[in-house]
Amino acid sequence: MARRKKIYEGKAKTLYEGPEPGTLVQYFKDDATAFNAEKHDIIEGKGVLNNILSEFFMLGLGQIGVPTHFLKRLNMREQLVRSCEIIPLEIIVRNYAAGSLSKRLGIDEGTQLPRPIVEYCYKDDGLGDPLVTEEHIAAFGWASQQDMDDILSLALRVNDFMSGVMLAVGIRLVDFKIEIGRVYDGDFQRLVIADEISPDSCRLWDIKTGQKLDKDVFRRDLGSLTDAYTEVARRLGVMPNNPPAPGKPQLVN
Ligand code: UDP
Repeated sequence: MARRKKIYEGKAKTLYEGPEPGTLVQYFKDDATAFNAEKHDIIEGKGVLNNILSEFFMLGLGQIGVPTHFLKRLNMREQLVRSCEIIPLEIIVRNYAAGSLSKRLGIDEGTQLPRPIVEYCYKDDGLGDPLVTEEHIAAFGWASQQDMDDILSLALRVNDFMSGVMLAVGIRLVDFKIEIGRVYDGDFQRLVIADEISPDSCRLWDIKTGQKLDKDVFRRDLGSLTDAYTEVARRLGVMPNNPPAPGKPQLVN
């Protein structure tokens, strides 16, 4: 069988050349990393869950008119996406204080913010994805003013959608990260939500108990990451048909 052409290998996903020009196959790995890849582990089934959850969120965004790179899910670990030029920014939206914001500003985790706060980090693992301002973005030409207006409005629409979807299943969307790409249609470019939206890139807390259902479970050694992601998938009604749980073969009567 012919080997596929690998375009890019990231920490949690690999991109392969797609079947048609302008498409890519996005493969979700089981690798979990944190603290700029200082902590690394294989969490069996994580890729399957993130593939299905990201499909669910991207399809929902498409239904409310937010453009995404998602085309279709191919199998348990892969989805077909439009190839795009990724803007080198991590766009973070926060509704409650947590993580680096809490550390930086000394605000207790869980404090509701007066309004959603959007932050930008420059995507560079070597530098640890540093926080940057719109001044840096404009001066270094990472995005134009028009792009920044569009990015802000996309980020807030994703926030409203994700907050609502999560609230409906008893989960608080504390914060999340998205990446945005450019696709070209002839002379025109437009921006689409790219990469993935999954519990790897969101903070999700159970509204009643405060239990963490996101990658902090791995970062902070709080228990089983697969159990946490499975709970999110279960509540959203998108559990995969073949549960990813590994285990010994079982006798079927
Ligand atoms: N995030 C991410 N990838 C990154 C950095 C952050 O997906 O490289 C997400 C993270 O999961 C959280 C939000 O962005 O939902 C805000 O992260 P924060 O800046 O608090 O960083 P952290 O505390 O995770 O280092």
